Amino acid sequence: MDSKIIDGIGLSRQVKSEVSDSVKRLKMETGRSPGLSVVLVGDDPASAIYVRNKQRGADEVGILGETISMPKTATENEVIRVVNELNSDPNCDGILVQLPLPEHIDEGRVTLSIDPLKDVDGLHPFNSGLLAAGKPRFVPATPGGIVQMLVRTGNDPMGRHVVVLGRSNIVGRPLSNLLSLKGKGGNATVTVCHSQTKNIEELCRSAEILIAAIGIPEYVTSDMVSDGVVAIDVGINRVSAPDRKRGYKLVGDIDFLSVSQKASAITPVPGGVGPMTIAMLLSNTLLAARLH
Ligand code: NAD
Repeated sequence: MDSKIIDGIGLSRQVKSEVSDSVKRLKMETGRSPGLSVVLVGDDPASAIYVRNKQRGADEVGILGETISMPKTATENEVIRVVNELNSDPNCDGILVQLPLPEHIDEGRVTLSIDPLKDVDGLHPFNSGLLAAGKPRFVPATPGGIVQMLVRTGNDPMGRHVVVLGRSNIVGRPLSNLLSLKGKGGNATVTVCHSQTKNIEELCRSAEILIAAIGIPEYVTSDMVSDGVVAIDVGINRVSAPDRKRGYKLVGDIDFLSVSQKASAITPVPGGVGPMTIAMLLSNTLLAARLH
């Protein structure tokens, strides 16, 4: 692999191996393995793939994973009832409700119903509040994975100008909080760009580290980056590819071919941020088990 390409699969193996060792130790100390329950509502094919990968990741590291599948007609109260049962289940350390939920269900209410001590997705306002207050407990998995990628590849964000494209509650906002925290993996100067930002191209060019999380295929082109940029691509977009068996392919928010000519390091899609997200979810589940 080209040395400038950040190998998300290899890095995720590293993290999973560390989690696996800690799970073994925990089991020796307490006699039990951590438990992760994933609630999947409906039949969105992308969500089904993500959930399957999470289950597989849990199996790999010795976490007891279970997937609770509910029909897309499930009501908000029915989903909350399942979450409440998991809240009081002593064998369940971590709860993740796969998003997006069907439109008739209020994601905010469901997230609020999760016990903050089992909220391994880090999306409960209690945990996002702790992060914003500089005392992170469960950090959302994708931002946590990105910080690990930077630190583990010698691209520590300390003192550097990081431009984050996107301000979602899942990626952009927690990531910008995390990068500006005091301490290892933080201490960056962070600019957050979003759909209302005016001079986005100029801001992108001023980035030493550019992280794109907007969901627009190949939005960042080479004229938007400076030589030597570290480019992290969070986007997972399906675009039509009639020559492929499936009829589509996955691309990121960064135009890999052109930006990789200028970047000093860049993540591919697939094989970049995605695998790290799963590894960090497993790491959060281990933390949850330690807190119980
Ligand atoms: P979102 O739709 O919730 O948020 C998109 C953000 O982009 C918004 O904050 C919006 O203001 C901003 N935006 C939209 N148009 C813009 C523009 N032209 N310029 C600048 N900002 C703009 O999306 P999300 O959930 O944060 O996901 C973003 C992408 O990351 C998606 O492709 C998603 O599939 C992917 N994703 C990947 C992982 C992973 O593990 N790799 C995890 C979560 C999301």
